[in-house]
Amino acid sequence: MQVGRRIRERRERAVGRRADTPMPLHESEAIILQSYPLGEADRLVSFLSRSSGRMRGVAKAAKRTKSKFGSTLERLSYIRIWYFERERRDLVSITQTELIESFLELFSDYESGAALALFSEISEVVLPEKEALDAPFRLLLLCARAVKATHKSEVPLAYFCLWTLKLAGWMPPLDSCVICGRALGEEQAFVAPSLHGLACSRCRPAGARLLPKESIALARRMTTQKLEQLVEVSAPPIAVREITSIALDWIEWQAEKRLISRKMWEQKI
Ligand SMILES: [Zn+2]
Repeated sequence: MQVGRRIRERRERAVGRRADTPMPLHESEAIILQSYPLGEADRLVSFLSRSSGRMRGVAKAAKRTKSKFGSTLERLSYIRIWYFERERRDLVSITQTELIESFLELFSDYESGAALALFSEISEVVLPEKEALDAPFRLLLLCARAVKATHKSEVPLAYFCLWTLKLAGWMPPLDSCVICGRALGEEQAFVAPSLHGLACSRCRPAGARLLPKESIALARRMTTQKLEQLVEVSAPPIAVREITSIALDWIEWQAEKRLISRKMWEQKI
């Protein structure tokens, strides 16, 4: 025990001494989730690293007009990033970035901008810190690219929300009642903001609303088909909107957090 403690103490002292020594430089693909001004000249950046997961870091002097970071730190920018971690510090130091693909132009359109803001906020809220997950990374990029290519964001957003639930293990069953577990079959299904899933007519809580059959069918299709296939066929807009709204309710319920950009999205009409 004593030896173990001595070794541990020695190691702790060593770590203390090394507190400011830079760790090895990391390189990864990344997507910027948010970036905020920090002090006079720096930016605080939240990003999704493909090899290390969601992280936060500081980009020194990034607020200056002739910053070496240029527009790479804008929301949803797909970049290559170089950074190093420091012992005992939560924030990494971003030393260099290189733009792979920009989504900046989409923010000049209200609807696309609101959808992209939701993509980044949901990723920020749902994804665990420092855990490399390739599927959410690909989902984010896929949906942002779909908005860019089609200038339509309703279907990509609904798809993004459903798949976020699915990948997080938060998707309630779409074919049975979440309260009694009975298979819904051809029965009517109900939804309510207080409910994480679909309820049968017997279990529906007060104030629950009927979810049309075509909305349920579309949600099932969205969780099994590719986004390209869904964008090609025209899904009924009301059903798409309904699914987005329910999926956002479920994400908020699971994350125990209200999404700020949801309001922006819902005000678009
Ligand atoms: Zn039931």
